[in-house]
Amino acid sequence: IINVEHLVKNFGDKEILKDISATVNQGDVITIIGPSGGGKSTFLRCLNLLETPTSGDVKFENKSLLSLKESELNQLREKMGMVFQNFNLFNNLNVLDNITLALKKIKKMDEQAAATVAQELLAKVGMAEFAAAFSSSLSGGQKQRVAIARALAMNPDVMLFDEPTSALDPEMVGEVLKVMQDLAKEGMTMVIVTHEMGFAKKVANQVWFMDGGIIAEQGTPTDVFDHPQNERTQEFLSKVL
Ligand code: ATP
Ligand code: MG
Repeated sequence: IINVEHLVKNFGDKEILKDISATVNQGDVITIIGPSGGGKSTFLRCLNLLETPTSGDVKFENKSLLSLKESELNQLREKMGMVFQNFNLFNNLNVLDNITLALKKIKKMDEQAAATVAQELLAKVGMAEFAAAFSSSLSGGQKQRVAIARALAMNPDVMLFDEPTSALDPEMVGEVLKVMQDLAKEGMTMVIVTHEMGFAKKVANQVWFMDGGIIAEQGTPTDVFDHPQNERTQEFLSKVL
């Protein structure tokens, strides 16, 4: 579903991503782990062109993203849901309106249809009772679950997560991971950057270890966590496990 070909990203004269080639297949749950500054966020942002690659290509559903016009790119971004560390909810709207907004504007649904879809999605992330609450009144974990529901509203083919739990108080991490785990069970294709190692191992079918702008090691969770081949992976895991 996503093909990354010889992706290079420079910031100024610094080469941040160094000739990365990788594939995400339909139904994959890929967790990306690795040390700070290794290029995980930059890589994820290149997948939906929030960052423009310096060279190389990213293909989504066999279309080269770099060849797309702005309008086509926006359509494609709807097919790639993205969830960030910091939620980015509209704090001046209530929970329901945070989700119905895009349904009405982008999917051209009427108020009633949008509200029905939004309620279903809120139920799915365990937030049905909070539809009328203002976003600003929610806990971090609740905000993140609404952000996931909002991304799902576009009916994406793949979901990208960049450290969705790292801004949360520890007691709220579990509820967000649970929602992501349920999505994985339903067969959603997901690429997840995370520092939650237990989760990274449990939820994934593929783990990518990124360090120094490359995918230094990849394999099944057992390969990477229990039998890491690369010295840098071994060193990283010995620090975080
Ligand atoms: P973390 O685990 O801390 O989130 P990361 O693996 O996500 O780290 P990136 O955020 O992708 O790492 O950063 C990789 C490198 O690129 C870092 O050295 C960072 O300083 C640099 N970098 C990222 N974004 C920019 C930017 N907009 N301009 C210049 N340098 C950047
Ligand atoms: Mg990052």
